[in-house]
Order: sequence, then structure tokens, then C-alpha cells
Amino acid sequence: MMAVAKNAMEIFKVLEKSNCRECGEKTCLAFAGAVFCGTRRINECPRANSAVLAQFTSTSDERSSQENDLETYIVELKKQAMQVDFAKTAARIGAQVHGEMLQVKILGKLFGIRKNGSFSTDLHLIPWVVIPLLHYVLNCKGVKVSGQWVSYRELPGGKEKYALFKKQGEDVLRQLADRYAGFFDDVLHMFEGRAVEKQYEADVSVVLQLFPLVPIMICYWKPDEGLASSLYIFFDKSAGDNIGAESAFSLGTGLVQMLKKLATHHGF
Ligand code: SF4
Repeated sequence: MMAVAKNAMEIFKVLEKSNCRECGEKTCLAFAGAVFCGTRRINECPRANSAVLAQFTSTSDERSSQENDLETYIVELKKQAMQVDFAKTAARIGAQVHGEMLQVKILGKLFGIRKNGSFSTDLHLIPWVVIPLLHYVLNCKGVKVSGQWVSYRELPGGKEKYALFKKQGEDVLRQLADRYAGFFDDVLHMFEGRAVEKQYEADVSVVLQLFPLVPIMICYWKPDEGLASSLYIFFDKSAGDNIGAESAFSLGTGLVQMLKKLATHHGF
């Protein structure tokens, strides 16, 4: 029976740890992270022995059972969300009630949850939004936005996953910003973001409102005289209480993947 890794470290532990790069990743740790996130398969490490392969290779049956687990989990979260008092919840999480619907603004677009558990939205129902949104509705502590920006690594529980957040979020976004002139203007326009006074001497500082109490700030430094560009995504310090590191990871990396798709398929 295939083991389901609880985190990337479990996969890393069974790899050779030689950083030989034959899999195309710079390190075994990077490879383990990619396997954990489902973007690589364990059998793409040519040095993994058969016991390791058997332990972590998922068959299609096992994959579909994982998908079923996820579906069941979403259904359960929805059930709980349907039971909450919408008026009280709206006041706590910065949302509003419209008729039978709890409306939460996500990236400038309204996302509604009805009492029967169905959604109403202009956004496509993208999986990276659904689970964090339901968590936000159920668990957001309603802590006021502090105005103090912290990196993903500084969120409680964010440290272990920061390398992966950087690779799948910040690095991908940096490459997009390098490649598409006017990238941030388009992002601001599409998602009702706001340019803010430049922070940390960045060339661009942009704030996007993921959820009502969850702003993120993207700071980008252009390449300069042989120096590579850099980019960081900051969360408000309150994100630790209002969404937690897991949701912050899903939202940050999900947003980046969506922007990548928009940029590459539609061309900014
Ligand atoms: S091929 Fe395997 S051993 Fe080599 S770096 Fe990749 S994961 Fe590590």
C-alpha cells in the first residue's frame, strides 16, 4: 500500500541526498518538494530504489482515492460553513450578507456562499481558492490588519515550507515580471490591486486583497547592471491568525499559477 507523505521531508528522508541533479532539480530537497506537491513523480529520480518507489508511487486508483478524500473534505467544510451564522461571520471576517448569501471579496471579485452550500462567483471555482476560503469563513479570527508586513517564513509554521513557497511562488512570479513589460499594471487592473509607496526601495510595490482581512504585498526589484532581479511576497502579520500558514501557501502559490496561466495563454 502506498504511503501518503505528510510533508516533503518524509520523501526527502528516503532519497539518496547526493544532490546529483540527474532528476533536473538542483537538490534532493527541491525534488522532494516537487513530488509532495504533485508536480514531479518519485520515479523521476533515477537513483530511487525499488523499495522507495513502491512506498511512494501512486497508482491511478490511489490517486483517485486521494481526489475523493479531497472532495469529501470540501463537502464537510461546506456543511460546516452552511451552519454558521452569516451575519455574525460577515462582521468577523469583513464580508457582507446579501439575501441568503455570504459574500466575500476575493481579489476584487465577489464570491458568494449560499445556505445550501452552492457558490456564486465571477471567479472560476479554482481549487486553490475554495479550501482556503472555507477555512477563512470558519476559522478566521477577525484580527485587524496590522500594516506590518512579514515574509511567508515569518508566519507561524511557515519556516519549514518557505523554500517551496519561494520556488513555486516568488521565483515563478519574478520570472513573469522579468518577462512581461507592464506585468504589474495588468495585475493591478485585473484584480483591483493598489500600487503603494515603494517599500524596501523596491522598484514596484503592489498590494492585492486576497480576502477582506488578508492583503499581500509584492515587491519587485528589476535586474540591474548584471544583478538578477528579485521579488518577495509579504503577508500582513495578522495572516497567521486569519488564515494560517497552510492557507497562505495555497493562496500565494495558487495566485502565482493563475497569473502564469493568464500571462502565457492570454499574454499580458
Ligand atoms: S536524481 Fe535523485 S538523488 Fe539525484 S538530485 Fe534528484 S532526487 Fe536527488
